[in-house]
Amino acid sequence: PAGAAEPALPGRRRSAPPGGSAVHEATSVGACRVLLGSATPSLESWQATVVGRYQRLTMNERIGGAEQQGSLPAVRLVDMNHQPKHCTIAPPLLDAIAQRIARGEQSLIFLNRRGYAPVLACHDCGWKSECPHCSAFRVFHKIDRTLRCHHCGFTERVPRACPACGNIDIAPVGKGTERLEEHIAELLAGVTRPDGSPLRIARIDADTTRLKGALESQLASVHAREVDVLVGTQMIAKGHDFRHITLVAAINPDGALFSSDFRAPERLFGLLMQAAGRAGRDADHGEASEMWVQTFHPQHPLFAALKKHDYPAFAAQELKEREAAGMSPFGFSALVRAEARDQAVAQGFLNAAAAAAQTQQLPGHDAVTPYPAVPMTIQRVANIERAQMLVESPSRAALQRFLAAWQPLLHQTRQQGDFKSLVRWAIDVDPLAI
Ligand SMILES: [Zn+2]
Ligand SMILES: [Zn+2]
Repeated sequence: PAGAAEPALPGRRRSAPPGGSAVHEATSVGACRVLLGSATPSLESWQATVVGRYQRLTMNERIGGAEQQGSLPAVRLVDMNHQPKHCTIAPPLLDAIAQRIARGEQSLIFLNRRGYAPVLACHDCGWKSECPHCSAFRVFHKIDRTLRCHHCGFTERVPRACPACGNIDIAPVGKGTERLEEHIAELLAGVTRPDGSPLRIARIDADTTRLKGALESQLASVHAREVDVLVGTQMIAKGHDFRHITLVAAINPDGALFSSDFRAPERLFGLLMQAAGRAGRDADHGEASEMWVQTFHPQHPLFAALKKHDYPAFAAQELKEREAAGMSPFGFSALVRAEARDQAVAQGFLNAAAAAAQTQQLPGHDAVTPYPAVPMTIQRVANIERAQMLVESPSRAALQRFLAAWQPLLHQTRQQGDFKSLVRWAIDVDPLAI
């Protein structure tokens, strides 16, 4: 991660030959103190190997698998522009899942949103299930008929009628994993397992794994092949070694393509690569395993690289854009966050501290750009207003000098007038999410 201390590599540095050398040649890195391992390294780490600060070693074989290209799943992009309107699962994907069930194979379907529906709404007056304490909607959980805020935890029973106008016809909008599970069960009604028994669907997300041991027992039933279709959030797409899953599907990953956070595409690519790695771990199924991605943007370069399982191509494209925009790892940044009961106080504090830094000509200030304070994406959590200020510099040394000198000024600013009521402030260097 970008925020982690970067290890020095003592001893001989040798860049890997094109195409990579096997990691088994570990003798050449015998002097290394730190070994970083990932199928999808952070772009900061990757760039460090490009410029030779880190030594890159490439593994050409999948763990427990056959030759790499032979056993990686085929990536299928479903162009949702050409599917029936408002369908959650495209008909060809549904067919493919049904075929797996008939063959006794498992499918994994993930959606990055838990609960039944992200919002409950009244179509008469426009009421929505907003959290009274946060600038976010409370999520409808059908299983216990609650509205829960995923930011502050505020939970209430679902009202019998619209709290604003009394209309009894309030309805869920959008889909979370709970509703997806129900929807898939409806769509696949009538599909049976090879022995004629009814199919089994399981869901794994933060809601189903709250109890101690719940995750382990759910994973055990997947491994024991008691489950045909596994639905869940991205927590199931990472890290678990499912040997009989031959189809992995991302239902709606488009949000990350156009996020205001410049790291969102990197996270999405990493997630999809890792999810694809869930399919076809078992050499018996390797040939036939598939990763399906539903998208309204099939031409996006991220998906072109994904189709070829080509992390270096993705990294090259993404790094080119970041270089042009002066973003990490080519530029350096820090976020100063402030929290207060009043948004104007939080923003005012940040702006006043930045103005003071300008007036006092702090060390490094000529190479550092502070941007105006803005509300955070989730502006209010548990009745606390949150604001942030981005500070950028092409020079890490200048940024560090500036921040060191700015810190006492931030403390001083807090002692002035309204800013005394500030709840807290903090500096986050190399923020992982913006
Ligand atoms: Zn209403
Ligand atoms: Zn809340």
